[in-house]
This record gives sequence, structure tokens and C-alpha cells, in this order.
Amino acid sequence: MSLSDQQTVRLRPEIVALPAYRQGRTADAAAFKLSSNENPFDPLPGVIEAVQAETAFNRYPDATALALREKLAERFGLKADEVHIGSGSVALLAQLILAAAGPGDEVIYSWRSFEAYPSLVTVSGATSVQVPNRADHGHDLPEMAAAITDRTRVVIVCTPNNPTGSIVTRDEFDAFMAVVPRDLLVILDEAYIEFVTDADAVTGPTLLARYPNLVVLRTFSKAYGLAGLRVGYALGPVPILDAARATAIPLSVTAQAATAAIASLERSNELMERVRSISARRDALWQDLIDQGWDIPKPHGNFIWLPTGEVTAEVAERLGAAGLIVRPFHPEGIRISIGEEQAMHDLRRISQEIAEAVPA
Ligand code: PMP
Repeated sequence: MSLSDQQTVRLRPEIVALPAYRQGRTADAAAFKLSSNENPFDPLPGVIEAVQAETAFNRYPDATALALREKLAERFGLKADEVHIGSGSVALLAQLILAAAGPGDEVIYSWRSFEAYPSLVTVSGATSVQVPNRADHGHDLPEMAAAITDRTRVVIVCTPNNPTGSIVTRDEFDAFMAVVPRDLLVILDEAYIEFVTDADAVTGPTLLARYPNLVVLRTFSKAYGLAGLRVGYALGPVPILDAARATAIPLSVTAQAATAAIASLERSNELMERVRSISARRDALWQDLIDQGWDIPKPHGNFIWLPTGEVTAEVAERLGAAGLIVRPFHPEGIRISIGEEQAMHDLRRISQEIAEAVPA
């Protein structure tokens, strides 16, 4: 038996038109998956053991993940209620947008940026206002500020920006916040912040005391290597986080996810050592690609951006055929995660061949 695929129910047309989330997974086990900005290191044994000890599957998890919130609050000098946990920071993004914006409202973000932003805004019923990245692939914060109208309810700033890898500096951000009305929610999406080594980069937590309309989003998916467990956190004022909590699907952060996050925080030194090695691998790769003749913006996350333009699909296919699964955004460019040493080695070899074949 198969069910009717005839459309009889009235669904929201803007939802029906949304593209499915692209994961870029490959069936070929021999290939390197460099398409989702994951951490190439295996989970730490201590983290695995902590999760394995969490066996009360018959019980619901603690609804607010208090133990994890307390741990993060201590780390950032905040109160536990100023921390909100979600099943990935993408869930928190959805909650914050729903809490602040609805039909008739506008949400501003730079473009190109994280693919989930347009979908989440559409789901909320609000309208996306996409401000093009600068020619150097970074956010154009003055243009984003100029795009604010009395319908704007949220501005999302992504630093490092997915997929272009650019950062917003502290000075740029302060100048931006100086002109943003205080009744407008600003979300600083710092999913990749742990990979940043540039001293001028903005980091949100220390700015929370200064800006009452700021929320900082972070995740355990990238630097902490827990993408599969789905856990992220928001730091910000209680009234904003309470509104986000009100929109959340209850009980979606599992005890295993919260436990893994706590066990990871307890092993931060070891995990940040790995992060430093990924950042060093990234910088070495970037330098080598520049030497090969590629014009690539300086990367600050755990990925690089190849602005391949019209040949994007072709280059991505070529990399794929060589066992490197990457994320193409045709006709703009290709995002490649910093992965295993072997993958980076293969990438250098193929990128050299491509650089020779493709006109600059
Ligand atoms: N923000 C950005 C900029 C991202 O790139 C991602 C993941 N690709 C997320 C948020 C969401 O990550 P997660 O839901 O795994 O925390």
C-alpha cells in the first residue's frame, strides 16, 4: 500500500515551498566528509563513558538542563537563568526568532550566511531582509544597520560567518550596536568562535552586561565535537530567554546530551588543544592555497571558503570524485571543512590541479 500523494490539505504555501535541509552526506565510506563543518576527532573516552552511564531512558530529562546551565553560568560569570540550553543552537535560533518576530515583521541578516536563517524566518511568518556580504565576504554592518525599519524585530550577526569564514571585529560590532535601537533583538551567532585566533574579533559574553538587547548563541557541535548529540546554548537577559523558552518544544535536550556537554566542559583543556590544532591546520592550508594562486578570504572557523563562482558545481564534483565531499553553493563558492590530515593533503593536491586548469 502507498498513501496518496495528492495534496488535499491546505498547508501554508510558504512552508510547502521551503527547500529541504541539505546535509551533503555521502554513501561512500572511503570518502572524507568535509561538508558539515564537523569535528574530525573521535569523542574523548571520558565523554563516551559519561554518556554510557546515563541509562535512565525510562525517565524524561531535566527540562531545563540545570546542571549544565550552572556549569556554563559559572564559566561566563552569569546566573543560571541567563543560560538557556537547546537541542543544537539551531533550535535556539528558531526559538529566539519565534519569540521576537511574526507576520509583518522583518529579520535582518547578512547573505550569504547560515542556510537555516531564511527557513527559520519563513517558519516564523516574518520576512527575511538579506544584506549582501562585502566584496571581501564579510558582514557589511553599516548596511545592515541602514536596513533597520520600524518593522525590524531581529538582527542576526554570524561571526565567524558560515560559509565565508569572515569575522566581525569588536570595533565594528560596537559601532553597529551604537546605532541599533535597544528594543531590537541582536543575536550573535558564535557557532565557530572557539576556532578564532584573531585578537580583534568580537566575542559576545563580555558584551552582555553592556547591551541589554544582545543574545549570544554557542554550540557543542563544532569545537566540542558533539554534533550528533544536539546541544547548544544561549547566553542573555532572562526576559529574552524566558520568551525563547516559551516557544520551545519541551524536553528536547536529552540527559545524554547534557551529560556529554558537562563532561566536555570538564575536559576543555584537552578539547581546546584539538581546536588549536584544527585552527593551525586551517591556517597552513589557507597559506598553501594562496600560494597556489587561489583568492580565498582569511578563514576564522573550522572551514575555508573557495569563491569558485560559475565553476562551483564543476569544482565540487571534481573534489567529490577525488573522495572529498564538500558543500557547494552554486554559483558562489564552495565551503570545505578542516578535516583529517589526509583529507587536507588530498585537497592540496587536487586544488593545485584545479588552480592550473581554472582561469583565475
Ligand atoms: N550557526 C551556524 C552559523 C552554523 O553553521 C550552525 C551549524 N552548521 C549552527 C548555528 C547550528 O549548529 P547546531 O544546531 O549543531 O548547534
